[in-house]
Amino acid sequence: MLAKMAAGYRKSGRMAMVLGKTIHLYGVSRKQFLAEKNWVQHELKHIEQFERLGYLRFLARYAWLSYKYGYYNHPMEQEARRAEKEPLGTQKYYW
Ligand SMILES: [Zn+2]
Repeated sequence: MLAKMAAGYRKSGRMAMVLGKTIHLYGVSRKQFLAEKNWVQHELKHIEQFERLGYLRFLARYAWLSYKYGYYNHPMEQEARRAEKEPLGTQKYYW
């Protein structure tokens, strides 16, 4: 349940979830996903967060902050949301 929520990004029934270095897609094809650069940037930031924190610490922190802040004000989501608008090349990973 918590893993299901981890780093999820919902857009009208479409969802991407990052676990470690893998972006899992639900209700959207790989091609459609890759065509939406902002969305890809968002998920790549979560991959960076996974690397920074380590797998288990990411999940623990994500869950704790979800409990404390909910989804929209979640600091790790806010960071990922900022990454959507940053120019390409300013992040560790970009598409
Ligand atoms: Zn997210």
